[in-house]
Amino acid sequence: MSESYAAQGVNIRHHALGEADRIISVFTREHGIVRAVAKGVKKPTSRLGGRMELLHCNTLMFRRGRSLDIILTAETVRSFGGLRLDFDRLAFALYLAEVVNGLLPVGHPQPVVYDLFVSTLAMLETLERPELVALWFQLQLLTELGHHVGLTACHGCQRPIEPQRHGVGFQLSLGAIVCPDCRFGRPDVRELMPAALTLLRQLRHGGIQALVDITEPVTVALGAQRVLGDYFATLAEREIKSLRILLDQAAV
Ligand SMILES: [Zn+2]
Repeated sequence: MSESYAAQGVNIRHHALGEADRIISVFTREHGIVRAVAKGVKKPTSRLGGRMELLHCNTLMFRRGRSLDIILTAETVRSFGGLRLDFDRLAFALYLAEVVNGLLPVGHPQPVVYDLFVSTLAMLETLERPELVALWFQLQLLTELGHHVGLTACHGCQRPIEPQRHGVGFQLSLGAIVCPDCRFGRPDVRELMPAALTLLRQLRHGGIQALVDITEPVTVALGAQRVLGDYFATLAEREIKSLRILLDQAAV
């Protein structure tokens, strides 16, 4: 194993390590998630400096360490600065970063997911409806990770569920919808409003074009987001903290 290695990656999490250092979780294209130390990054003279901010995309050199690797150099590929100009866009991007960090194992390359994540950050910067971009990404991510979310028929009785059916639930432990009869007595079911179910179906089947075509109001997207967010927390077996910030802010 060589001493040092190169990768391209996006910073998806960081926390302080002593006075001047930070541990950064970098989602890299070549090595999956890498947890590494950015030494002296909080000093004004640091050469890493702003490139270690969250959501910044860099070409990096790492040196292997005993427990954590060390970030030697970083060159900006893309800063995604546009995300910082709008609270909603930034909140959705940080939420997606937390989801990726929660679901992907460390050190396991996922180049398709990486490319999807980077192109989603670019869309969040520019497209009109960040809440739809975020939902679209989450559905793509679930498919890429092998979670076949059931949105067509009831998981209990297998009967197809009509788009306008009220009382439909989403069972978190199954990742599937259940009809009003079958959801009875199941503990981990979230209400999924008809418009929110229709929206998720459109986003899954409509491709990127759906992001432009859909006219459902933000509240419908947030209803779907609330359910999907709880599903991700179930999969990650931990709270997705930025979901609450996202939903509180977007509800204003
Ligand atoms: Zn049923």
